[in-house]
Amino acid sequence: MSSVLQSVSRRLAGKVALITGGASGIGAATARLFAQNGAKVVIADVQSSLGDSVAKEASSNSQHPVSFVSCDVTKESDVESAVDAVVSAHGKLDIMYSNAGVTGDSSGHQILTVDAEELRRVLDINVVGGFLCAKHAARVMIPEKKGTILFTASVVTDTFGLFAHTYTASKHGQVGLVKNLCVELGQYGIRVNAVSPAAVPTPMAMKALGLDRKGVQEFYAQKSALKGPLLDEKDIAEAALYLADGERRLRPGPLILLLLLLFYYYYLLEYSVIIRVI
Ligand code: NAD
Repeated sequence: MSSVLQSVSRRLAGKVALITGGASGIGAATARLFAQNGAKVVIADVQSSLGDSVAKEASSNSQHPVSFVSCDVTKESDVESAVDAVVSAHGKLDIMYSNAGVTGDSSGHQILTVDAEELRRVLDINVVGGFLCAKHAARVMIPEKKGTILFTASVVTDTFGLFAHTYTASKHGQVGLVKNLCVELGQYGIRVNAVSPAAVPTPMAMKALGLDRKGVQEFYAQKSALKGPLLDEKDIAEAALYLADGERRLRPGPLILLLLLLFYYYYLLEYSVIIRVI
């Protein structure tokens, strides 16, 4: 293990994560970050050669090898096999990150031109795919009474008119699913959350907006109220890490502060008792 690895905090040590859409963009950045944080990571994607090379590259900076499984999230048998492969290789699944998605083609921007088939295609990947990931993750998490299911939703569920109707409808579908799953799976101690990013300069956003990496960042920076920081896929990976790391550990700083407060209140209480007695 290199000294660089030792210096990285391992917030996901002992955890096992399956990341769909992990061959590219947000999923690939999250696979790298989860692996650096000590998780055993499996990437699931339809892009096999890219998925394999991301897995190899992420492994070089990780304690455990990152692996790749070919999986089309619209096919239940693929998702079922991917989950089973993770459990048979690592004994469990702690984190399912349902991140695979598509924006759909530009016809989705106009209701009069968009084909219902295009809507079905986008819903199939973004909503049915997410539904299947949650279903098969829940299948193995419910008996353990723990686990985390994450989705990559989108800012399009809060801001309107910028992206295609097909994509916007699909992301609302995901958020509805997340809210319902929270209620059902919460009783088993399983947490369900979504990250809702604005425009991130991934291959998907570059293609949808017809811009290069810098162009995507500038496009969103112009529309954003917050000036200065430019969003990239590592920021979304950090949000996913925060949500995936379910155990909130007391770090020395807050613990010392807590002890000082207890000390302070103890003496304050004693002092006020003395005043009352007098
Ligand atoms: P990306 O194109 O870089 O990555 C998406 C990945 O999903 C690709 O590797 C692709 O092969 C995979 N994928 C597509 N269809 C699949 C299928 N049927 N089965 C398995 N894998 C499949 O794009 P990204 O920006 O990293 O997108 C990741 C997620 O983030 C998507 O759900 C997207 O909607 C969401 N998102 C992206 C942005 C953005 O601006 N980039 C903003 C908000 C939300």
